[in-house]
Amino acid sequence: MTILVTGGAGYIGSHMVLALRDAGEDVVVLDNLSTGVKSVIPEGVPLYVGDTGNETLTASILKWHKVDTIIHFAASVVVPDSVSNPLGYYKNNTSNTRSLLASAVATGVENFIFSSTAAVYGDVDMKPVSEDSPLRPMSPYGTSKLMTETMLADVAYAHGLHTVVLRYFNVAGADPQGRTGQSTPGATHLIKVAAETVVGKRPYMQIYGTDYPTPDGTCVRDYIHVTDLVAAHSCALNHLRDGGANTTVNCGYGRGYSVLEVIDAVKRAAGTDFEARLTGRRPGDPPSIVAGVDRIHETFSWQPRYGNLDTIVAHALAWERHLREKSS
Ligand code: UDP
Repeated sequence: MTILVTGGAGYIGSHMVLALRDAGEDVVVLDNLSTGVKSVIPEGVPLYVGDTGNETLTASILKWHKVDTIIHFAASVVVPDSVSNPLGYYKNNTSNTRSLLASAVATGVENFIFSSTAAVYGDVDMKPVSEDSPLRPMSPYGTSKLMTETMLADVAYAHGLHTVVLRYFNVAGADPQGRTGQSTPGATHLIKVAAETVVGKRPYMQIYGTDYPTPDGTCVRDYIHVTDLVAAHSCALNHLRDGGANTTVNCGYGRGYSVLEVIDAVKRAAGTDFEARLTGRRPGDPPSIVAGVDRIHETFSWQPRYGNLDTIVAHALAWERHLREKSS
């Protein structure tokens, strides 16, 4: 049986494809290459270029490759973009997933692992946030993922689909062996932006908001290494294959760092200084969000290996330097 990875040419998806290949699984990738990069797909892994919303295409891939599991990464993921382009986010994240689910049901796919987000929680005063906390997204991005979670639960109930929803906190870092990393052009995520500033791709970076109700006034996030996140997916896969119940699980380490702390860590790892300009708040940002991690440890035998901010930053920086060398 084969695993379909949507968004397998993207940042997290490409790490997943490598991990599945390393484990000897049969993998096929669907990616529209809007942000993904073809060159990160390992040799021998079939790549279909197209949208998850194309039911004719997805149904034929699922049938042809006898797919029994879908790991669904393909999505738009930038919070402020979702504020300015909500319809694009509801189309790509919600409506296209509905189409993918229709093909999955029609072709008898058994397992569906879904990339959700901590953005479904919104502004939480409870820290860390458990999976059962109220869901009040502050951005169309969060809402688009929450709507998909709801749809997935209904489809699971009606059609017996086995599902794990993984709510990602802030994913960063790169493959420790240097095989892949975040290559997305125009990336906006904090550690990526800081790493680009270190290698001179940007003259300076910006800090969005210094007046949040947090210890140093900047937003606090729970940064998780991409390789540990991918390991959580492998646990989810084993869980479903072993007949585990459908579940929703936070993916983070349970401790938060402020934007200023992250920038300090990047400067330390780089051994250089760079300019970080203080600017106003960015729309859609909750002040602080840290994962409650009881469930991930109770449900999975998940052993995070890179749960240290300095390691995450060092790997992100190594990948950025690699990209810089390749382009010069
Ligand atoms: N951030 C920042 N400068 C940047 C990018 C991000 O100050 O160039 C802040 C952002 O406002 C948020 C935090 O860093 O408070 C994490 O943002 P990111 O885009 O990495 O992830 P998100 O939490 O939005 O998914």
